[in-house]
Amino acid sequence: KHHLPPDRMPKESDMELVATDTVRLRVPSGSMAVLVKNLYLSCDPYMRSRMTKHDEPSYVPDFVPGTAGITVHGLSGYHDTYRFGSSRFSITGYREWQPTLRWLLSIDRRSSALSVMRRIFDIKLIRIKTSEGQVPTSRKEGSFTSNSTNTLCMPGLTAYAGFYEICSPKKGEHVFISAASGAVGQLVGQFAKLMGCYVVGSAGSDEKVNLLKNKLGFHEAFNYKKEPDLNKALKRCFPEGIDIYFENVGGAMLDAVLANMRLNGRIAVCGMISQYNLGKHDGVHNLLALIAKCIRMQGFLVSNYYKCYREFEEKVVRYMKEGKIVYIEDIAEGLENAPSALTGLFAGRNVGKQLIVVARE
Ligand code: NDP
Repeated sequence: KHHLPPDRMPKESDMELVATDTVRLRVPSGSMAVLVKNLYLSCDPYMRSRMTKHDEPSYVPDFVPGTAGITVHGLSGYHDTYRFGSSRFSITGYREWQPTLRWLLSIDRRSSALSVMRRIFDIKLIRIKTSEGQVPTSRKEGSFTSNSTNTLCMPGLTAYAGFYEICSPKKGEHVFISAASGAVGQLVGQFAKLMGCYVVGSAGSDEKVNLLKNKLGFHEAFNYKKEPDLNKALKRCFPEGIDIYFENVGGAMLDAVLANMRLNGRIAVCGMISQYNLGKHDGVHNLLALIAKCIRMQGFLVSNYYKCYREFEEKVVRYMKEGKIVYIEDIAEGLENAPSALTGLFAGRNVGKQLIVVARE
């Protein structure tokens, strides 16, 4: 509805569900129109930054009140490439239907990044059988459609690029992941495990800790809300120190990790969600460890790694088909539950990748 100040949590009342009249499209002869029917909407922490109006342009544009541009999945329409009823990943809005004139062209024109994204994420759907197992009620393992919105899409590629490209992992190394049960973290942990690393995750509830240890195969996990002495928790899990930290939360966790890193450690700075609703960011005190322990700390954006998409897809699809990777998603039903799903990310309500289903195929 409006731009948020940078130092406040988003609330459900900041968003509004609006019903519009049927949109009439006048399609000039020779042009093309595509009617996009959204199936699954992706719900991601980076959307918070877009809710505040920035003076400087960011890597993603600020939302315009009254609209919401995010990643969605699903398409039905007509065109040589886009057959009626075929499904695609696309970037449109939080809405049920998106009638778009010259949709493909308009995406191509917006920026080179988007056009690369369209091409690369124009992925085929792959039916993947995941093994049945105990997962929390109302949460489930990725279906073949939703897999195309998370495991094989933005969160999956983020985990892949962040771990393999930024962390330079080696077998036997000690890996720590914060927000480990989330969309990105759960995959990083499984990649690290498959590489033969010792893997520990932190999460904000006992349910999530249980999931990490008993479903996702982490060697250890702890509930950071129950153990406010993070240094102590990390020392217990890593008596010999940490080689790789996959950073998702920032703040006090980063400080505690810095104090527990090993010589020549690597920190991939993927996100710092604990800072997204603070106007003034927490100070980090242990940065001198970077020098003394020769640590490489590097931020990254998934959008710079679309070039890795094919190798990523090949590897992850193989892992999924072999049952070596599971993926937990948390699906909110209906567009009317989108505000609660989005605010839930910052309260830790989601268990696994947060999606919103607006239609089922
Ligand atoms: P998640 O699915 O992990 O959802 C967010 C989780 O963050 C919550 O469930 C909660 O889990 C945790 N959290 C929320 N608030 C806090 C807090 N104050 N302190 C500590 N933890 C908190 O999200 P994603 O996996 O999609 O994203 C993970 C991180 O990666 C985010 O920081 C995101 O911005 C970043 N990201 C970066 C990308 C890039 O290109 N660099 C691309 C995609 C994501 P819990 O209960 O464990 O606290």
